[in-house]
Amino acid sequence: MAREPVDLLVIGGGVTGAGIARDAAMRGMRTALVDKGDFAGGTSSRSSRLIHGGLRYLEFYEWHLVFEASRERRTLLRIAPHLVWPREFIFPVYAGTRLAPWKLAAGLWLYDALALFRNVERHRMLSKRRTLRVEPALRERGLRAAARYFDAQCDDARLTLANARSAHEHGALVANYARVDRLEMADGQVRGATVTDVLSGDRHGVRALAVINATGPWGDGVAALAGDVPQLRLTKGAHITVPRARVGHTHAITVISPVDGRVMFVVPWGDLSYIGTTDSDFTGDIDAVEADADDVLYLLRSVNALFPHARLAPEDVISAWAALRPLLRPLDARAPGAVSREHRITRGPTGLISVLGGKLTTYRSMAAEAADLVAEQLHYLDGRPRPPRPPTAHEPLPGGAVRDVRLLVEDAVRDGSTRATAERLVRIYGSEMPAIIRLARSDPSLGAPLAPPHPATRAEVVHAIRREMAVTLSDLLMRRLHLFYEVLGQAAPEAAGLVEFSGSELGWDAARKASELADYLANVARMSAFRTALRQRFPRQTG
Ligand SMILES: Cc1cc2nc3c(=O)[nH]c(=O)nc-3n(C[C@H](O)[C@H](O)[C@H](O)COP(=O)(O)OP(=O)(O)OC[C@H]3O[C@@H](n4cnc5c(N)ncnc54)[C@H](O)[C@@H]3O)c2cc1C
Repeated sequence: MAREPVDLLVIGGGVTGAGIARDAAMRGMRTALVDKGDFAGGTSSRSSRLIHGGLRYLEFYEWHLVFEASRERRTLLRIAPHLVWPREFIFPVYAGTRLAPWKLAAGLWLYDALALFRNVERHRMLSKRRTLRVEPALRERGLRAAARYFDAQCDDARLTLANARSAHEHGALVANYARVDRLEMADGQVRGATVTDVLSGDRHGVRALAVINATGPWGDGVAALAGDVPQLRLTKGAHITVPRARVGHTHAITVISPVDGRVMFVVPWGDLSYIGTTDSDFTGDIDAVEADADDVLYLLRSVNALFPHARLAPEDVISAWAALRPLLRPLDARAPGAVSREHRITRGPTGLISVLGGKLTTYRSMAAEAADLVAEQLHYLDGRPRPPRPPTAHEPLPGGAVRDVRLLVEDAVRDGSTRATAERLVRIYGSEMPAIIRLARSDPSLGAPLAPPHPATRAEVVHAIRREMAVTLSDLLMRRLHLFYEVLGQAAPEAAGLVEFSGSELGWDAARKASELADYLANVARMSAFRTALRQRFPRQTG
């Protein structure tokens, strides 16, 4: 990146920046993508993991948003069928809430219509009896009816990574742990940035004809480097995971929290369920956002009220995460229309393009809009033709080159894998699954699980290092293999063994191994701080 100027420098390797880099690289722009941490290390690995039409927009009559999100849901199910999969939801309606069954039925009819009746299946209303037959653990008291409808679920961190990798395959230069500290100006216009290699401390200048700020909740901070005005208000959303058997549900459940009337989700994730989310104003350190004791209590109370047999307590929480919603502050009166949008793309006086807000679901169309603006800028600067929009909606993301993931599972089973292993590997790696199986067969020690009974193996560590740009222990355990979120205790006891193993693959010396382990354990401690806080607050109940 530092060697030759690029057309476009994208700051921020969340789903927005990775999506923009992919789109721009596919248009033939010389593109660079940098993130100060790991790809998806910010919001994009801490979402509710839903690719959804956005039922709640119906309440605000924002049909166009539902229409766009429904189209993107179809697109992502097609280009990344391993990372985005259909999910059946049950939405129970209880007496005394603001929602009547007829209102939900009408809303879901519209929801299906705005998806052009091309959602996975159409919704259906269920009687009380039927609801309890499909979800017997739900509270019976006050239950009036339920709706059954479809949305999709995704692996947010891997979806982001897939975009960064696709950008790279199309020629983009991509770097994680590369932080922008300064924007470089020429003739009053932003023309590049000073980028620090976070791991070595080296600094480099990257020259660029256009610079995009896609730093999500950090957006105002990066915009300030160009003197642009702040546009964001941040609110925190937290999730917790618990053993699914404790809740006792099969489908994803959309619920109105009995605590405060907010819509929340209880969603299956293998043998676990995650519950979210909260919504509270945030003014703290953007780099240290965690679910706190209040968040955890709120989520537990809400779910316990709707699943009376769950009786979940803080010690049942396996992991927790939180992220910040960058809500858009209204622009001045001369910019009508910007207020109701989910995202906003602005160009400041010095030419910095900021892409703010948005959601996982619509990242691709937002990326296309941003890349259009860059194409316009490059045309203005050197007269080059504006390239047509590239086929980002049709070309599969890495691992997505498969018509039906079930066929891959059958192939792997025929080839000797157990069905459970095949299903898991296909869900994570899609058509790249044979690479993992080949690695494990080339050296049987690589087939060993990292933290049994969690099924992730050493072969996946090698794959993540060689093919998926994992460069730290936390990249591996948090965003590539998810042990941090899926294993009670965050696999901390196994981390020391893993640092040795990954260190030999990555060439770490003793000092680096020690600092990698310390960083990971610090992440574990930060995430677990809510436990200590709750123990102090309720010394006896929480043990
Ligand atoms: C609680 C919650 C739940 C959500 N659930 C859903 C959902 O279910 N479905 C959905 O569609 N959407 C959901 N969203 C929205 C969605 O997650 C976000 O819109 C999306 O992840 C934002 O991606 P981003 O790339 O803009 O930001 P981020 O993912 O935060 O990426 C910004 C990146 O910029 C990097 N960065 C910051 N400063 C610098 C710098 N100086 N130099 C280099 N890099 C820098 C950061 O390290 C970070 O990786 C949810 C959001 C929240 C908060």
